[in-house]
Amino acid sequence: MDFSHDIPTRVFFGRKCLHKNKEHIAHFGRKALIVCGKTGAKASGAYEDAVDVLDELHIGYQTYDNVLNNPSLENVKEGGDFARAYRPDFIFAIGGGSPLDGAKAISALFSNDMEPMDLIEHPERIKQMVPVLAIPTTAGTGSEVTPYSVLTVPGLRTKKSFASYKAYPAVAFLDYRYTESLPEKIAVDTALDAFTHLLESYLSKKCNPMVETFSLSGISHFAECVSRIKESKFDEDVRMHLMYASLMGGLAIAHTGTTFLHAMGYSLTYFKGMSHGNANALLTREYLRYNYPEAREKIDRILGLLGFDCIDALGDFFEGLVEGIPGLLSEELAEFAGLSALQNSIRNGPREIGIPEMTEIYRRTFTKI
Ligand code: NAP
Ligand code: FE
Repeated sequence: MDFSHDIPTRVFFGRKCLHKNKEHIAHFGRKALIVCGKTGAKASGAYEDAVDVLDELHIGYQTYDNVLNNPSLENVKEGGDFARAYRPDFIFAIGGGSPLDGAKAISALFSNDMEPMDLIEHPERIKQMVPVLAIPTTAGTGSEVTPYSVLTVPGLRTKKSFASYKAYPAVAFLDYRYTESLPEKIAVDTALDAFTHLLESYLSKKCNPMVETFSLSGISHFAECVSRIKESKFDEDVRMHLMYASLMGGLAIAHTGTTFLHAMGYSLTYFKGMSHGNANALLTREYLRYNYPEAREKIDRILGLLGFDCIDALGDFFEGLVEGIPGLLSEELAEFAGLSALQNSIRNGPREIGIPEMTEIYRRTFTKI
């Protein structure tokens, strides 16, 4: 056994954890920039709580609320310009993965002399970042504890992420009450994303005994929710388990990154408008089938924890949760596979994969439907 593991984010989990731990915010400075999208931060109540806490601590703030879903380089550039005009001491990121990732990019652009594309091409130029404090309002990405920011790059016709140790949020406040306002469709979608983080990290070549603990713990908590997800019963207990599963997924991929499942999902989001979790979920059946020869024991273990007796049972369950499955033209199969091959993450899976195999996985996934 030979590994290292380092997660610099301080995590608070539980009902009202922001108010209960507000003293951990005071030392970040006197000026906060709240970064969020138009809907989630306010609908969840997290925005109001953050403003209350900032007022109580006599910290001034401004709000940039224009982070879009799957934020693009152009979008975070606008946020970076906003930050440059206000010059915050720290950033309060509130929302799903999009605002959280957007906030990391905005912090990097504000704190360094960089163009947005440099984030992707030269992340080593990120020398400093004002601290990001994260409040997730979805239970899915785990971005509150990862060093990643996933951005849409129109020039490359896909999403690309940058990773920087500096991009780990300084503090994460996970209060599962904030997911109560999620429409069921988004609650399911984000839960599926969390699951694929747990799955991909567990199967990754980079998995270590600590990652395995995070992944399996998260999968066990996800398993607690399977029957209630099937019945659309998103009670408080389910929301708590899913928020925990999402956190474990984040802690796991912070170390391993993702694998070809995420890489292949990006084209379905970019070209077909599928949500991130749905795209991943739809590809899960063929992902597991492809990897089974190299990861039989691990995949059987996951299926057992979830209460499914075979890959198809899990595949059917996930496919039933996916809404609005698009059609794929035959020429798109190889094109999307070629774009997936641009992602370094495809090298992390248990089994080698290239463009022909990914083309075949798209084909199998979309001809069956
Ligand atoms: P999202 O794009 O952040 O949010 C999806 C939708 O839900 C948005 O319309 C959002 O509204 C709304 N919403 C969020 N919270 C809500 C709440 N509590 N109540 C009502 N509506 C709410 O979705 P996400 O799945 O959390 O994040 C996806 C992004 O994260 C993708 O770009 C993905 O690539 C990335 N990601 C990042 C990592 C990482 O480690 N950094 C890992 C996996 C995925 P508003 O946005 O208008 O507020
Ligand atoms: Fe993801």
